[in-house]
Amino acid sequence: MSGFLNSIGRLRAPKRSPLNTPTSQTGFFEPLPSPGAEFTQNPLSSGSPQPKPLYLCQPFVKAALVKGSFKTIVAPPKYVDVNEWVAVNLFDFYHNLNHFYGALTDFCTLQNCPTMSAGPTLNFLWPDQNQRLVSLPAPTYIDFVMSWLQKLLDDENVFPTKSGRDFPNSFAYTAKHIYKHLFRIFAHLYHQHFEQILHLSIEAHFNSLFAHFLAFGKEFDILVMKDLMTNQGMGQGVAELSEKWREMGILEA
Ligand SMILES: [Zn+2]
Repeated sequence: MSGFLNSIGRLRAPKRSPLNTPTSQTGFFEPLPSPGAEFTQNPLSSGSPQPKPLYLCQPFVKAALVKGSFKTIVAPPKYVDVNEWVAVNLFDFYHNLNHFYGALTDFCTLQNCPTMSAGPTLNFLWPDQNQRLVSLPAPTYIDFVMSWLQKLLDDENVFPTKSGRDFPNSFAYTAKHIYKHLFRIFAHLYHQHFEQILHLSIEAHFNSLFAHFLAFGKEFDILVMKDLMTNQGMGQGVAELSEKWREMGILEA
């Protein structure tokens, strides 16, 4: 039964209009399902140490609306089907992240963000029509992800809203796939746009949303942190943030 989603169906946000990317001209391709294999790691250009990203610095690293652990917030309510709970949460994460991205689109441009960077040497890639992975400007990449997600969320076969319809057997797999791509957008916004997030004074909101998102991913085992690992196994970008939040007790160890 999927009555729970029914109740939020009417809250769905208006259709997204394409940002600065004419997807019909460049072609829209669905992301590849293989987790963790679609990024490049450029060698660091110089031997000098990278400056510590602002989001890892005090007081920003601890800016939050919610104090304490997210463990109880992410646990499914007693009588709610787990698939429904995961679906509703993914739906909310998508919309919340979309709102934040909306506030940052003036800064996330083809010129400012020519790659989907998420760490000092980390860029995410997107498949072209031949399933070859290519580097795209971040706004194009994000627009592809968001359009693909909206299509999925509107697909009654993937996210059933009508009473009596069940989630497909592949739902857990789809959820993991969706989560991964939302995660990459968070990673890009932290890496490339945290200064603008600070200017807009939305860092506490953004940190809380991301901490909630990470706790949710851990609870349902859909977090793919290896997306952000270097060949040496070290975390890059928001992987460091998540480690820091674990040390601070914001996330469960
Ligand atoms: Zn950007």
